[in-house]
Amino acid sequence: MVELSWLIDPIYIVTIFFFILCMQRMSHPLTARSGIVWAGAAMLIATLVTFLTPNLTNFALITIAIVIGGGFGYIAAKRVAMTDMPQMIALYNGMGGGAAAGISTVALLGTTTTVTGSLALVGGLIGAVSFTGSIIAFLKLQGWMRPRPITFPGQQIVNMAVLALAIVSGVLVILQPAWIPLSITMYLPLFFVLSLGFGLLMTLPIGGADMPVVISMYNAFTGLAVALDGFSFATPNYAMVVAGIIVGAAGSLLTLNMARAMNRSLSNVFFGAFGATEEKGVQIQGSIKSIGSDDVAVMLAYANKVIIAPGYGMAVAQAQQKVKELTDLLESKNVQVKFAIHPVAGRMPGHMNVLLAEAGVAYDHLFDRDEINPEFPSTDVVLVIGANDTVNPAAHRQGSPLFGMPILDVDRAKNVIVLKRGQGKGFSGIENDLFYRDNTQMLYGDAQESVGKVVQALKKL
Ligand code: NDP
Repeated sequence: MVELSWLIDPIYIVTIFFFILCMQRMSHPLTARSGIVWAGAAMLIATLVTFLTPNLTNFALITIAIVIGGGFGYIAAKRVAMTDMPQMIALYNGMGGGAAAGISTVALLGTTTTVTGSLALVGGLIGAVSFTGSIIAFLKLQGWMRPRPITFPGQQIVNMAVLALAIVSGVLVILQPAWIPLSITMYLPLFFVLSLGFGLLMTLPIGGADMPVVISMYNAFTGLAVALDGFSFATPNYAMVVAGIIVGAAGSLLTLNMARAMNRSLSNVFFGAFGATEEKGVQIQGSIKSIGSDDVAVMLAYANKVIIAPGYGMAVAQAQQKVKELTDLLESKNVQVKFAIHPVAGRMPGHMNVLLAEAGVAYDHLFDRDEINPEFPSTDVVLVIGANDTVNPAAHRQGSPLFGMPILDVDRAKNVIVLKRGQGKGFSGIENDLFYRDNTQMLYGDAQESVGKVVQALKKL
């Protein structure tokens, strides 16, 4: 058979170029979709060229694994609802971490130097933590586990002890000292059980509103684990190293941005057991008032400036096309329309940007929280479309479980119309003060239907 293994490194370099191009295209909502296609193509080419590796055995097993994994991934991605994307990302991310831990195991069982063995070990630890941590995040997001923090006395001490024992058993795997009677086949499973346990214990106390930070951090972990594994072979696998570093770096930046958006430090996210859903001894003042779509249409038609604050409910209702129609109609009546985008609105970073871009809302209509917050007092009407936590003024009240989370200050506008179906709470499970304010009125119903009715009423005016 013709020896083609010399092709592997040059082709890996081409795929590395594709990965970098992907990141560049992902930096803008309009080009993000094509960025994903480049990354997918790079991954496919890198996988195929790896089959040229000399002395590769187990072709059948590898092919069966690829068919099962790829088949499951294809079907699941085709079927998943847009609103279930975050849990799917958490699940895939966990699989990546698990795969990285698997590669570490193979590397550690093979002939390694202390340096490559140590890299495989750190990759294995991080990959295993990412695996169980992401699975817990998946279960919480999927609603198969209560999103509240699960805590017990002495939790941090237990967590640190498990981590310390995992590290000690890992060091034994590398050093294999003669004075310990047990073999590597004993320390290695122990190392992985403890590492998996640490990921589980670390994620259980994290609740509700902190999930975006957790998901992006495990994403960064998986990237880092893959990069370290790339170095653990006798000849480093550069495609793994570069792809892992890109994911690790992008995930770390995203984690820091999300934490900043929530005004939370990473240590507070991981050790603060945030996510309680009750605030004892507080009675929200005021009453809830509802309004009909015809009255909303009149209010909007006579406004000078309208701000739309979309949230998760807009994604559930798939109301973005109707929202675009409403925007065009208002602009044709010389009403200025802007969109207020909270960084954690929806269930994944950039969720609102993607939906609105898909519906054709021009990018220059979208404003982030810091840009738009000073504008609310001069706004005639704010339409809150399926947003809840991201507009909850309880975040300004000390003692509230949301205290400190920067929000869209929609309550400072002259009139606030909230579109939601009923009394459902937001992701954090915390009651919303906004609904009880004097300047707030509720337009009940599915957001797509409600916006549609407002559009019809506006057309008749
Ligand atoms: P929330 O999840 O706080 O609230 C969504 C609201 O939408 C609910 O109150 C619900 O009320 C309403 N709703 C649901 N379906 C419909 C529908 N068909 N029509 C109209 N309304 C509907 O949304 P936000 O976007 O404000 O906040 C996002 C939350 O999710 C934050 O807590 C954030 O931390 C968290 N999160 C964000 C992630 C991210 O990366 N962006 C990832 C994971 C979590 P009702 O049932 O009464 O209709």
